[in-house]
Order: sequence, then structure tokens, then C-alpha cells
Amino acid sequence: MWILRINMKDLGYQLEEVPERYRLLFGRALTSQIVADEVPPLCHPLGPNNKLVFSAGIVTSTSAPSSARISAGCKSPLTGGIKESNAGSSWGPDLASMNIQALVIEGYPDQKDKFSGLYITWNKETEKPQVEFFDATEYTGKDVYETYPLIYKRFEGRISIASIGNAGEKGYGNSGIVFNDQAKRPSRYAGRGGVGAVMASKGVKFIVLSEKGSPGVPIVDKPLFEEGRKKMIDAIRTHPISKPKGGLNSYGTAVLVNILNEAGGLPTRNFSSGRFEGASKTAGEAIFETNKERMGKEVYNHACSPGCIIQCSNTLYNEDKTERASCIEYESAWSMGANLGVDDLDDIATMVHLCNAYGLDTIETGATIGVAMEAGVIPFGDSKGAINLIHEMGKGTDTGRMLGGGTEIAGKLLGVRRVPTVKGQAMPAYEPRAVKGIGITYATTPMGADHTAGYTICPEILGVSGKSDPLSPEGKAAMSRAFQATTAFIDSSGHCLFIAFPILDIASGFEGFVQECNGVLGTNWTAEDIVAYGANVLKVERAFNEAAGISAEADRLPEFMRMEPLPPHNQVFDVPDSALDAVFKEM
Ligand code: SF4
Repeated sequence: MWILRINMKDLGYQLEEVPERYRLLFGRALTSQIVADEVPPLCHPLGPNNKLVFSAGIVTSTSAPSSARISAGCKSPLTGGIKESNAGSSWGPDLASMNIQALVIEGYPDQKDKFSGLYITWNKETEKPQVEFFDATEYTGKDVYETYPLIYKRFEGRISIASIGNAGEKGYGNSGIVFNDQAKRPSRYAGRGGVGAVMASKGVKFIVLSEKGSPGVPIVDKPLFEEGRKKMIDAIRTHPISKPKGGLNSYGTAVLVNILNEAGGLPTRNFSSGRFEGASKTAGEAIFETNKERMGKEVYNHACSPGCIIQCSNTLYNEDKTERASCIEYESAWSMGANLGVDDLDDIATMVHLCNAYGLDTIETGATIGVAMEAGVIPFGDSKGAINLIHEMGKGTDTGRMLGGGTEIAGKLLGVRRVPTVKGQAMPAYEPRAVKGIGITYATTPMGADHTAGYTICPEILGVSGKSDPLSPEGKAAMSRAFQATTAFIDSSGHCLFIAFPILDIASGFEGFVQECNGVLGTNWTAEDIVAYGANVLKVERAFNEAAGISAEADRLPEFMRMEPLPPHNQVFDVPDSALDAVFKEM
């Protein structure tokens, strides 16, 4: 297995054999470890000393179900701390198939307005990956829906593409890295934390992979892997949330809109209420029914990446049966919907599509516009005004550049007090005052506010892995700690986080999950071992943050959440600081 280092100062590259201490590290575990080992914590995130690291998971590129994730790690321009953001795409499996355990992009081009593309292929003669560089400056300043087809045309055979959009090129803290989905759409984002701006700072516009002829991922114990794989497939196909035509396959993650609204935990109009009167018009069920009417048949969701049997990715179609947007995740339906007081599904879809086209993170974008609405830039409910603000971000007008810096910066510039961020990153679609455990995750994860870092929504809202009162702070620090550690391992395994539903509820599914990983690596890990592995990832990330000046005192939610009772439950965030501190102290 290789570490492929690409130096953007001299457009050179080198292959290193993976050192023994990294042998069992993949995905988030490896991106975070390399960042911790090699990036000076106090460096400027867009300067020459930051590094952008990609790594696929342990089982990525095998036949393990729903496991085609790719992690991107660096020091974040949004939070100033360590960042791992992941996406599902054929890109991760292709990188892994070429035995590239980590791709590290280093250095800094001398010419600031020049962008390059990287074309990474498998050389059958040397039996190693190789890299060609091409001038990609001509593709800059354009919509990624325009540039992707040009890249597909430029290279022969099946390729996978990672790219940045205008948002990354302009250095926004709110910029992602976009990967292709199965239908060649530029729609799968490692969206959070400004990773797109870091890629742009290296002068990289595209990373194109062609894995043709590559050896694939070695599996040490194939029978064990196979046994685990079958157990996982059974669990995924049985669980009501993940099974075919189940919750995710029918309604996508946007199935959560009505559920969170009912629970009073759907942040509405910049986190001023937990319930939105227009929620049902923006929910997964509404997307399903709208498609049924427009397409004349029921339309079930598709897989974002190879080998996913959950298939949760939706598409909203126009009346003329053309695509309006794919995919509208729950967090996007919320950020452009309830959070802005908008209940027009077509306008929400337009906003999601524009974020994809410009390379913006939908969560950060919606949260930023919510703060701008609070400041009176445009009124709540003004979907056309919101669409216009996204265009301003994409085009880089003065207003757009200010908003592209992210929610916290926009809040400061606009003099807004209700700014829903932690460590500089905007909160996603779950209200901490109505769902206390997720608030603890937002406060304490090294990533800044991030629901995927420890999804306590499972027991607090969905009744997965037991049931827990969302309004009670009792026992939630331990719950968040356990979810964060397990999640850090899932993010390292290469599996999509949505396998959590079946493996948490079905014991044989969890067993299969551990067996798959042991089968690939030849390890003998137990359930305790993988939690310890995840906890170690978190400790590495936390240590980086501390060295970067982000101490335990930053593990807090914004003050307004402790002061303003949130309708309809009229609760404040009442988790004591001691409980927040206990998450890592007792890890
Ligand atoms: S469950 Fe959804 S997000 Fe996860 S890999 Fe499958 S299609 Fe992609």
C-alpha cells in the first residue's frame, strides 16, 4: 500500500510505502493522523504548510455494502481546527483499488491564478500508481455542471472526478470538494469546513482517477470477510429504515423533516423556533409525492456510490420530467427550507442545485442566509431573495464574498446575536434545546458543530439503539461520547454512516461489520477494540485542536441557546458545563 505525495510547488510526486504505524489506519483515522503529524497546528489553513489528505476506508473498494466513502482531511479554514469531511462516490473505491492508502497534497504553487488537474492512473508495467499534471486554468470560474462533462470527455474510459467550484477558488470557508455520483453528476460533497478552499489553495482544480488494471484491495481473510458481509447485507435489508422501499429508499434523509418537526427540534427561522408550519411541504414524503405526480409513477431513490444497497439519494423532477436537483438531503431541505421560513420545494431544490454548481456547503450556506435574514438583508420566507444571495456567493460579489466566509463571520459583520455556530462551523438541522444529546455532540466534537460526528438522534428521536428522552440532559454526555467514538471508527471503515441504523439494532449486523474489517486487515478486533480505535482518533484530533489554540473552553454552544427558551417546548440548553467537559475527560 502507498502514500502518494503530490507537491504543488514543483508539480512533482513521490510514492512511499505505508509505514508500519499507519498500517491499520484508513479513512478519517489516517487523514487525521497525517494532519496531526505533518501540519503545524498554527499554520494558515490556506498557506503552504497546510496539507490536504484523502484516504478511503478499510473496506472501501471491496464488495462490502454501502462502503464507498472517501475522507478529506486538513486544517480547516472555517474552524481553524482539524477537519475530516467525507462523501460517497466511486472516487474513494478507485483510489483504494490503486492501493493508495493516502493521497497527500502539499506545497503551494508560485502562480496564484493558475490551476492544475491531476490525472492518477495505474501503471501496469511498474505496478504502481502514476500521476500526470494538466493545466486546468481554463476550467475555472465555471459552474461544475459545465466542467464535469468536459472532463469526462477529455479522458477515455471510466473515470472518477474530485473537483472544486467557484466557492473553493474564491477561498471561502464555506466551500466543499465535489465528487461524482453514479450518474456522473457533480453532486456528492465533502462539504463541511472549507476543504474546497484548501484544495484551491494548492492550485488543484481536479483530481481525476482511472483505476483500470489496478490490483484492488487485498483481503487477508476472505471467508471471514464474506461471513461479515452477508450478515451486514441481511441486517441492512431487514431494518425498516434501511431496507428496500423502506424509509431512506422511499423518502431519502428528508424523511426526517416531519419527524424532527413533530419533536419540536426542527430549527426554524434562524433557530428561533423548533417547529415550522410549512414543514410537510418540504419533507421527503412531499418529494416522493411530487415526483409521483410529475413522473406518473413512484420513483424510489438511487445509490450515490457503487455497492450501496440502502440507496437513499433522491432527485426532484420538474413538471417536464427533467431533473431539478439531486440530491436533496434532510440537512439541505432544512437549511434552505425551515431555517429560512421557505416552504416552496422547487425553490429549495433550486438552491441545493446552485450550491452544488458553485461548490458551496448547503448546511453552511442555509445557516448563513438565515443569519442574513435575521439581520434584515432579506426577509424570512423570501426564497427568490435567498436564491439571489447564493448567486452572489457563487459570482463573488462583495456581499457574496462576505457570506461565503460562513455563518459566524457573516453574523459578526451583520451584528447578529443569534448565530448558531460552534468552533466557527454552523449547526445542522437538529435543535440542541429540543434534542440535548446532539447539542453535546455539536459542542464537543473536534469538528465544530456536526451532527454526523455523534448521531445521538438514533436513540433520542428515532428509537434506534434504545429510546431516550430528547429533552432530558441525563446520561447524554456518555451517550454522545459512545456515539462519537463509534462514529470515528465507522468514518475510518469506509462505510456510510447510515449503516448505523441496522448495526445498532441488529446484533448480527454489528458482528458482521467488525468481521468485515477483520477480514480485510487480518486483525482480531472486538467491539471494544473498535470503540477504542475511534476514541484514539478523537484524541488525536483533539490534541491538534488544542495545539491550534482551540481549548476545552470552546466546547460550548452559543450563549443564546442557554438564555432563549425554544418553542414549542420552551426549553433552553441546560446541559451543565461539567457534563460537556466529561465527554473527553472520561474518554
Ligand atoms: S446510504 Fe445514501 S448516502 Fe449512504 S452510501 Fe448509500 S446512497 Fe450514499
